[in-house]
Amino acid sequence: MRPISIVHQDPCLTVFKHCSKDTVVICMGSPASCPLCDGELKDWMFSFRQIFAPWKTSESCPCTIVIRPTNGRFLQDYTGVEDLHIGIADSDGQVLHYDDNGIKRDTFWPECLPVWSQPDADLLTYGSGSIPDTQRCRWNNTLTLHTLSWRIDNHAYNEQVRNCFDFALGFVRALITETEPFGNKEMFTSEVILPKIQRLLRFLELYKKVCSTARSWIIQDTKDM
Ligand SMILES: [Zn+2]
Repeated sequence: MRPISIVHQDPCLTVFKHCSKDTVVICMGSPASCPLCDGELKDWMFSFRQIFAPWKTSESCPCTIVIRPTNGRFLQDYTGVEDLHIGIADSDGQVLHYDDNGIKRDTFWPECLPVWSQPDADLLTYGSGSIPDTQRCRWNNTLTLHTLSWRIDNHAYNEQVRNCFDFALGFVRALITETEPFGNKEMFTSEVILPKIQRLLRFLELYKKVCSTARSWIIQDTKDM
């Protein structure tokens, strides 16, 4: 059994089955041969898949609600207990967010997790150029109005009741006034945000497990995948 050489790029894992029926190999990069039996991987495509890090740049997830660690980065600094910051990416991927200094607009967030888009369209899977104009306009207009009314409201930042999360949730409510499925923070957190964070944590756990081995691959039971 030999180590696999690693090409450093965006975090991504390769999962494949080769000579063992009940286990999969999880590794980084694209190996030319199976690390278990050293066999050539010429006919492995049938069970090959890649798991990409779930975070993106905000430019690649326009018109979404996005979260990032308040300090640091997901891979290096986030373990599931650190504070997160939430913002709203407009149709160009610029992010509006709120903290104790007021509303800010960032040109982009280099690393963020998209957690919500308009319910009538799966915008998380859209490329930046393929969001229908009507939805793009509705998102941007609602964001402009929401930002304006938030500023006019002019209450002070409050860690419990008027923070980045309230700003983002207020926007969501303004966008979907006809149905209001997320009436409170708890529901939005448990139904929208937590499942995305759990998926992120599963990726981080697996990625760190692979990284922690000197050979850069692990095997795992097929039923656990
Ligand atoms: Zn093999």
